[in-house]
Amino acid sequence: MRYSQMFIPTVKEVPSDAEVVSHQLMIRAGMIRKLTSGVYSYLPLGYRVIRKIESIVREEMNRAGAEEVFLPAVQPAELWMESGRWTFYGKELLRFKDRHNRDCCIGPTHEEVITDIVRNEIQTYRQLPKNLYQIQTKFRDEIRPRFGVMRCREFGMKDAYSFDADEEGASASYRAMFDAYIRIFGRCGFDFRPVEADSGSIGGSYSHEFMVVADSGEDALVFCTSCGYAANLEKAEIAKPEEVISGSAALLPREDVPTPDVRTIEEVSSFLGVTPQDIVKTLIFLADGKPVAALVRGDEDINEVKLKNYLNCDVLELAGDDVIQSVTGSPRGFAGPVNIRCDIIADYSLMGMKNFVVGANRKDYHSIHCNMDRDFQLRDCTDLRIIRPSDNCPHCKGSLRFARGIEVGHVFKLGTKYSKAMHATFLDRDGKEKVLIMGCYGIGIGRTMAAAIEQSHDGNGIIWPMPLAPYHVIITPVNMKDEGIAAAAERLYRDLQERNVEVIIDDRDERAGVKFNDADLIGIPIRITVGSKTLARGAVELKPRKTGMMVEVPVDEAADYVTRAIRDELERYHAQS
Ligand code: ATP
Ligand code: MG
Repeated sequence: MRYSQMFIPTVKEVPSDAEVVSHQLMIRAGMIRKLTSGVYSYLPLGYRVIRKIESIVREEMNRAGAEEVFLPAVQPAELWMESGRWTFYGKELLRFKDRHNRDCCIGPTHEEVITDIVRNEIQTYRQLPKNLYQIQTKFRDEIRPRFGVMRCREFGMKDAYSFDADEEGASASYRAMFDAYIRIFGRCGFDFRPVEADSGSIGGSYSHEFMVVADSGEDALVFCTSCGYAANLEKAEIAKPEEVISGSAALLPREDVPTPDVRTIEEVSSFLGVTPQDIVKTLIFLADGKPVAALVRGDEDINEVKLKNYLNCDVLELAGDDVIQSVTGSPRGFAGPVNIRCDIIADYSLMGMKNFVVGANRKDYHSIHCNMDRDFQLRDCTDLRIIRPSDNCPHCKGSLRFARGIEVGHVFKLGTKYSKAMHATFLDRDGKEKVLIMGCYGIGIGRTMAAAIEQSHDGNGIIWPMPLAPYHVIITPVNMKDEGIAAAAERLYRDLQERNVEVIIDDRDERAGVKFNDADLIGIPIRITVGSKTLARGAVELKPRKTGMMVEVPVDEAADYVTRAIRDELERYHAQS
């Protein structure tokens, strides 16, 4: 393409709401524009990158045996009522009524629609397994859209759904998708990790998120420096302590002490002259409306994801003042486990603790010298806290490292959650009617593009990895008014086009500096500079965007040289994955 005819509205100013570099650069490079909060248009250069990502995804999904479909964005409420999500999905689901007053939504995901199709069409085990995917627009009314297309409201997603007759088949489908994701993100040139992720009440480690490692990532991940263990921070398990040294101290009589207006752990520890490790925190939650107390040592924090999974509930929320009052008999800030009117679950961090401080369930009082078993009974003691860098790997006891990550993909073994609720069954080999076993697998296309920029940029702009670059080469004639330069540049442009190379010629009547800056900003992997000095030697200058290491190539050989370089680079990404 000719730069002069292209629509590349680059800008110098960074928009004030662009907090992360990918958002800034996508705007500055003229790749996206905001329409309204969390809703973006892709302009030509940006959309080419999207198409590149989509075709890598498509190739690998097809290679893994999945078949492409295209499902509607608008979905009827009835299906969501069948699955139960019309109630549970909350405000992220954009709901509306059509002219007949029928409730509808714009799909944030497609489990209901695909399950409906499959239950109508699949009758026997002979038709299984099936894996259907689409690349399609989703809408999620995110509470805080931010970071440009990384967390927006309208976005393109590849979503796949697998249907199997048995557990073994479902595991094989999951594995096939897991492997396809490894290839997809490898081909995108990412430094990434699959991490164990929360799979809600389904349990087990049947969910992996694919995280691109980047400081700007919204997710925290933890990985072991010795074995391959890697997990989302909220999921990371903590092994049950093997040995607990509780010391020989005698159990002292429990005593209520006045602590006027002293509520937080910091206030209690400084008021009573104890450390946070001497205190036990009592948090009251509502699990599907039923109160439950969770205990953790004062210097640790409850991981609500773990608690929710342990309780196997649909909704877990911190209790309000009225519930606290009715369960503990006191206002907020003085809750403790003694004589509390609900079940108590403790974190492992309480093991071995003696004579500790708790809220006294009485306004302005705490109890000292409280002890488990003697003063209160636990329903269970389990892993409920958030992991820390000082913890050991739950598998091999190795040391852990924390990092930030951008979740670009997610594979999930759904089991029978939707098929059961929506009666998606089949006739098995043994003549019995059984429920289909499902998996779902998503990739955020726009977020993948943003993640690529987060991982690959410099002070001058984007550095596209070859497989995602909107164009592979940009020819920069330093002066279009110089006939010799213009002619050589045009010839090279034609030669590259004949070789099907994705090439831009910057034929604008601009200063060389402006052209160089724009080429760097939009991140084209190879720049060919055509100038009089090198031309006098019969050569042009090649500059890879990534290394900046210039090489001079004879002008007649430049087209072949560049074609080969691109092919080699693309093959390298392919081979690596
Ligand atoms: P997150 O925790 O980041 O909200 P999620 O768990 O809700 O993600 P999934 O439902 O698993 O995401 O969706 C699959 C993929 O879709 C994600 O891995 C991500 O790449 C992409 N995605 C999800 N939400 C958004 C969004 N608001 N903007 C852009 N991409 C998104
Ligand atoms: Mg989300």
